[in-house]
Amino acid sequence: MALDLRGRIAFPLLATRPLFRRNDVLSNYRVAIVGGDGIGPEVIAEGLKVIEAAGIGLETTEYDLGGSRYLQDGMVLTEDILDEWRSFDAIYLGAVGTPGVPPGVIERGLLLKMRFDLDLYVNQRPFKLDGSHDFIVVRENTEGAYAGEGGFLRKGTPYEIATQGSVNTRMGAERAIRYGFELAKTRNNHLTLVHKTNVLTFSGDLWERAFNEVAEEYPEVETAYNHVDAACIYFVQDPQRYDVVVTDNLFGDILTDLGGAVSGGIGLAASANLNPSRTGPSMFEPVHGSAPDIAGQQKANPIAAILSGAMMLDFLGEQNAAAKITAACDACLDVTGSTSEIGDAVAAKL
Ligand code: ATP
Repeated sequence: MALDLRGRIAFPLLATRPLFRRNDVLSNYRVAIVGGDGIGPEVIAEGLKVIEAAGIGLETTEYDLGGSRYLQDGMVLTEDILDEWRSFDAIYLGAVGTPGVPPGVIERGLLLKMRFDLDLYVNQRPFKLDGSHDFIVVRENTEGAYAGEGGFLRKGTPYEIATQGSVNTRMGAERAIRYGFELAKTRNNHLTLVHKTNVLTFSGDLWERAFNEVAEEYPEVETAYNHVDAACIYFVQDPQRYDVVVTDNLFGDILTDLGGAVSGGIGLAASANLNPSRTGPSMFEPVHGSAPDIAGQQKANPIAAILSGAMMLDFLGEQNAAAKITAACDACLDVTGSTSEIGDAVAAKL
């Protein structure tokens, strides 16, 4: 592991070219496709249609995973598949979740396992408000309350105890924070830390110290701090104050849903689960679930999946194509029609 001059772990961030890109003659990116359940395959089909229309070649391999697959043969995700994915450029996922699957099986066995095993340590979600303002939330994606620390004592008895700890490492907090500063530098040079330092005096202290120390390396970036409860108010009443927000796993989970609710709703919310060190593939998915109520009816809005595809291209180094797709989506926000008609409308703008 590389150490920088001060003896800390150095994280290569935001390499300008993707490490896995083949030469331009064989420029197809290798992408693992997990359509998943419900509307997942429908919206991913539109994302792939639009990427093709943007002139980007993908060499895709489909994986039948998710709740339906689990109900068929009990398979969630194998080590072999994870190993295969390590050589891919990216993973493009629709949605997973099927009624009848016990809670946690797919979340822990597929989504969280991908995050942990592929070290997708940043969850990035962009938000665009009416008018021109947009901001981005960078959520630490591998630690905190979601690390799986804890357990039961005397389960099922009246004296039952459940503990669920929040795991915060200096390395984990620092690499997410550093990513936030790097991202802010490419935008408006403003980064807000969101936590609850007044009550979470251990984890909050670690995050605050890491934030302030990394901030010294980025004098050009203006910083701010909000407690998470205040941030909930500002997300609704004054989101213009934000450019880039960095926060922990649990707060980020909640804040990003709130951000989605104030900026166009679930049909537009895109996300990226990034391994910014680029030691393996990153994963791109719309925020919405499998929506079993409208599955198979061509009623789903594919824009969130298409925008997630644009985030994938951006991360792979195809910034022009990504910007064009994002602009085409913006121009099609009022388009009504079936899932594939909306996809056609976006593709036609390119
Ligand atoms: P999960 O826990 O997997 O997020 P969920 O049931 O909480 O699942 P969704 O599957 O996202 O959430 O569905 C919530 C509601 O939003 C449903 O009524 C669904 O039809 C609607 N919905 C979700 N995605 C879309 C979409 N792309 N287009 C239109 N409606 C959608």
